[in-house]
Amino acid sequence: MIHGSCACGRIQYKTQAQPLAVTFCHCITCQRVAGGPFLPFVGFPTSAIEWTQQPDMWQAGDIAERGYCKQCGSAISMRYFHEADRIGLTLGTLVGAQHALPPVGAHIYLKDKAPYFTLSNDGAERFDEFSPGFRDQIEQWKADQQKE
Ligand SMILES: [Zn+2]
Ligand SMILES: [Zn+2]
Repeated sequence: MIHGSCACGRIQYKTQAQPLAVTFCHCITCQRVAGGPFLPFVGFPTSAIEWTQQPDMWQAGDIAERGYCKQCGSAISMRYFHEADRIGLTLGTLVGAQHALPPVGAHIYLKDKAPYFTLSNDGAERFDEFSPGFRDQIEQWKADQQKE
């Protein structure tokens, strides 16, 4: 069982699902949201997450929505609209489950990397933006949206 919480405890989640890939996003929006150099996410099947309270939502763009707690400001989640059953949860909201995580799989949006932050040699894949495969999925989703 993995569970997590925002800073004030208003929004909590739990899941029996195994964590999927860990991705650190260095984009400008994630820096602003994190108040730091990047935002780390771990993926889960969306349907496998049980919430005590759904996160509040906002969108920085048209491809994804971001979950947060409006009471304490914690960044909690990110979900891309083209992925029907996958959500990224911020590593900082996990409670005592860090041992269950796979190693960092990828650093994305390194073109925006904070100049004051030095990336360690952790063996993860590195991308200037999204990985090419993920970018293709988003482009395909956008093309499908326009047809409707
Ligand atoms: Zn909160
Ligand atoms: Zn980002």
